[in-house]
Amino acid sequence: MSRWGAVILAGGHGRRMGTKTPKQFLSLCGKPVIWYSLKAFSDTEAEDLVLVVPAGEAAFCRAEYVEKYGFTKVKAVVEGGRERYDSVYAGLLALRDSPCDYAAVHDGARPLVSPELITRTFRDAEKYGGAAAAVPVKDTIRRADAAQFSAGTLPRRELWAMQTPQSFRFSLLLGAYEEMQHHPEKKTDITDDVMVAEEFGKIRVLLTRGEYRNLKITTAEDLAAAEAYLRM
Ligand code: C5P
Repeated sequence: MSRWGAVILAGGHGRRMGTKTPKQFLSLCGKPVIWYSLKAFSDTEAEDLVLVVPAGEAAFCRAEYVEKYGFTKVKAVVEGGRERYDSVYAGLLALRDSPCDYAAVHDGARPLVSPELITRTFRDAEKYGGAAAAVPVKDTIRRADAAQFSAGTLPRRELWAMQTPQSFRFSLLLGAYEEMQHHPEKKTDITDDVMVAEEFGKIRVLLTRGEYRNLKITTAEDLAAAEAYLRM
């Protein structure tokens, strides 16, 4: 059986939320947002979890979010970087010391992820090398020009909204992130790991059917929606 690891990201500052505390540490039904992702991954076969937190916060976060709740699968708490991809790379380097064959990357700001969805990406990644959670878009998506006038519609039946986890054979993903370090000029607009895998690793990634409730907490409305889902 393959050994799985995961990088769980909580290294962002969450400025769009407008709160002093980053969104991944706010309270959601009595537990910090990040607790839910750590619990979901702890309930899967993954054995090595790395938690990435904001610079200067590692000791505090280890005590407050890992030890306090007994998340024993968390093997390292490391400090992230300026951009999401810097934080992922820091997490992958920490995971390199563990003997995992595959690794998932997950946004800690997606507390409603289920162990079943995580496991679906694991099975697909074992089959195809890379697999990322995604859902077909429900809205019509249109491009806007610089003056915010409509500049054409994209074909909805081809469009999927990306989520996490995004799961890969570990050597392929680390290789893609290492290649990216040699091309700083190409780093702009990278917002997920599939982009890194395709651009720098030439990895073909399957879109694993995600879940609409696996939303990313970005604004206060998202926190209210997540509470409503959890109470359902
Ligand atoms: O900013 P965004 O919502 O895309 O962030 C997605 C996830 O990546 C969040 O869980 C956030 O904490 C994490 N992140 C990070 N390091 C950064 C930026 C974002 O770990 N520099």
